[in-house]
Amino acid sequence: MSDEDKPVREIRINPIVPAESVLVATARSMRPRKQEDPAPRDTRKHVDTCPFCRGNEDKTPPQISRIPESGPWDIRIVENLYPVLGNDRSQPGLVFGLQQAIDGYGRHEVIVDHNQHGIAVHEMSVAHLRTLFGVYQQRMRELYAMDSRLRYVLVFKNFGPAAGASMAHTHSQIIATPVVPQNVHDEVKNSEEYYKRNHHCIFCSLIDEALTFEATIYDRSSGKILRRINVGQYVVERGEKFIAIKPFASRYEWEVHILPLQHGSNFLDTTPEDLEDFAKVMQRTMARLDAVIGGAQYNFFLHSLPHGEEYKNSHASYHWHLEICPRTSIPTGFELGSGLFVNTINPEEAAEKLRSVQL
Ligand SMILES: [Zn+2]
Ligand SMILES: [Zn+2]
Ligand SMILES: [Zn+2]
Repeated sequence: MSDEDKPVREIRINPIVPAESVLVATARSMRPRKQEDPAPRDTRKHVDTCPFCRGNEDKTPPQISRIPESGPWDIRIVENLYPVLGNDRSQPGLVFGLQQAIDGYGRHEVIVDHNQHGIAVHEMSVAHLRTLFGVYQQRMRELYAMDSRLRYVLVFKNFGPAAGASMAHTHSQIIATPVVPQNVHDEVKNSEEYYKRNHHCIFCSLIDEALTFEATIYDRSSGKILRRINVGQYVVERGEKFIAIKPFASRYEWEVHILPLQHGSNFLDTTPEDLEDFAKVMQRTMARLDAVIGGAQYNFFLHSLPHGEEYKNSHASYHWHLEICPRTSIPTGFELGSGLFVNTINPEEAAEKLRSVQL
């Protein structure tokens, strides 16, 4: 066993949100998690009883829009049957001491991603994905314009039962809320602090580092190599305008983030040409994940600059991105109770595995 193959056990600090740290523990004995069995994916093209399949349009809640507008549809947006948030103001905000609540005002919608029931993202065409991302953009824009109280429109996808998807038919969700999710707020505020100190976007710095950094770290007393960081070590996939990287402090074993190479704080500013490359990088990244994990069950979320006065000056410091979090194991009580995620695969090794998939 060479020095570099030794089991890793270290706490890695998330460079963007330092309060979020990760314990990377690769020794078998350190694995507190039960591995999630890869669920067999429902690959059927059409299911007669599925409300999201073509021909069953009358079985879904009211339709908001569809693409294309006539003929057989490729993508549909419908209201959510079980909305987490609604637009009624029935609950007066009762406040007891330290317990405060904000009206559960907002919107919750479902995007039926594709007319084929069990298609995976990496099986969708680049043209389809580009259209889908355009639909995300369009609907986000409409929701923000609809109500000035809305601060954040979150687009996310749950795929597979381990990722909390209750419907097998491929779909994404949109939740528009009057509050900014804490993790997005923390990213925005922490990157703003970094910008004040360094006059540089931390996400751009991380991309530069992922592309160009090279170093060998030695142990001071013994002179042994502790860690070797190679060029592009964290790069999983690269397009002309987008890059997929493995975060140094990944919470999930196969977590990958996709970012625009050129700085931009807001997904809504992305051009159709940008979306084309985003679709390519996304499709290839998902194909790599699928090849390595096999039938990946995952969540992805879009992080873009929130609306509101508080975020107006964060254009130079915040950098929008997509976080893909495959679920290969169930978080344990240790993780939920401590907030310290345990990652059992070295992020550098995971990136290497994903990169070496022949597509
Ligand atoms: Zn279906
Ligand atoms: Zn940037
Ligand atoms: Zn993020």
